[in-house]
Amino acid sequence: MIPIAKPYLTKKEAKAAYETILSGWITQGPRVAEFEQKFADYTGAKYSVAVSNCTTALHLSMIVAGVGTGDEVICPSMSYIATANSIKYVGAKPVFAEIDPTNYNLDIQDVEKRITAKTKAILLVHQIGMPADIDVFKDLAVKYNLKLIEDAACAAGSSYKGKKIGSHSELVCFSFHPRKVISTGDGGMITTSNEAYYNRLKLLRQHGMSVNDRTRHESSKLIFEDHLEVGYNYRLTDIQASVGIKQLEKLDWLIAKRRKIASRYHKAFKGIPGIQLPKEKKGFFSNYQSYSIYLKDECPQNRNEIMQKMLDAGISTRRGIMTTHRETAYKEEYAGLSLPVSEKACDRSIILPLFVPMKDDDIEKVIETFSKILKY
Ligand SMILES: *Cc1c(COP(=O)(O)O)cnc(C)c1O
Repeated sequence: MIPIAKPYLTKKEAKAAYETILSGWITQGPRVAEFEQKFADYTGAKYSVAVSNCTTALHLSMIVAGVGTGDEVICPSMSYIATANSIKYVGAKPVFAEIDPTNYNLDIQDVEKRITAKTKAILLVHQIGMPADIDVFKDLAVKYNLKLIEDAACAAGSSYKGKKIGSHSELVCFSFHPRKVISTGDGGMITTSNEAYYNRLKLLRQHGMSVNDRTRHESSKLIFEDHLEVGYNYRLTDIQASVGIKQLEKLDWLIAKRRKIASRYHKAFKGIPGIQLPKEKKGFFSNYQSYSIYLKDECPQNRNEIMQKMLDAGISTRRGIMTTHRETAYKEEYAGLSLPVSEKACDRSIILPLFVPMKDDDIEKVIETFSKILKY
């Protein structure tokens, strides 16, 4: 069976975790600080703050951006459900906008139509690693005095206009879940260029505590901590961070490998009528966290039948990214909402296996099987 994805972890990560465990310092401490510094250096961001996962990264970003009860935040419905959930956590309302089916990212014209007096922020997702057009959304945010938060859960190592995702705006959230390009088991990171945000994020992730454990540990003078506001326990552990440091060293290498597989798919499938392949516009560089193919209207094949035939041949695939407004948790509240472009993109997309190291034979098998099924 060819899986859809697989994290690339080696003895290097295992050894790093082993050493951290034996060091006696296992939760947020020196390894977390090192991982943060290296992630900031890698992305070109001013600061980075490690947290337990991308969902908590998004939650804290909502708080520091000042989003709260009664506010509206515009985001895509077609995203992993955590995107919208993070807006709910602060008592605000997710307002779902359509996506552009050529890159699965927010459609700026549709976003602008949904701005109201209550809109506080735009949550911009770089879906499956393909950067959204950040500058045009930045301009829109400035025009309407909105905050811009990036959900870059899938986009570590992707870049936009020659700069890595994480360096473009004030709040950018990453995930290190095993389904993403690099993993720490679970894990997350927020990059920011705003010093006030940086300081508050560090407080909020650790119970609102004024002094972190490391500062207290290293101080020769007695210090007592105070808790400045009601915070959370959203810490990343040093065990996870030591794995993350090793993963980060491989990120560019992993992306180069992933892009090679993507380009083999592209070459093999570009002549098949009725399907739309992922496409990078100039200035947009994807890490190919996923390779998603869209079945256009003229494609007579049924998506689920294609997936079943792939499964019969021993190849895992996945349906396109979910639409949040049609999930049980949201269905009732959004009963009147129709998002035809997003719904169609979800129902007519198919994600193919792509991971490192994917064997040559397996890549060929995916290509041959998919091409054969699509020949009609
Ligand atoms: C994976 C994902 C998340 C959630 O990340 P976790 O680290 O699992 O919390 C949020 N948003 C998007 C777009 C994702 O793909």
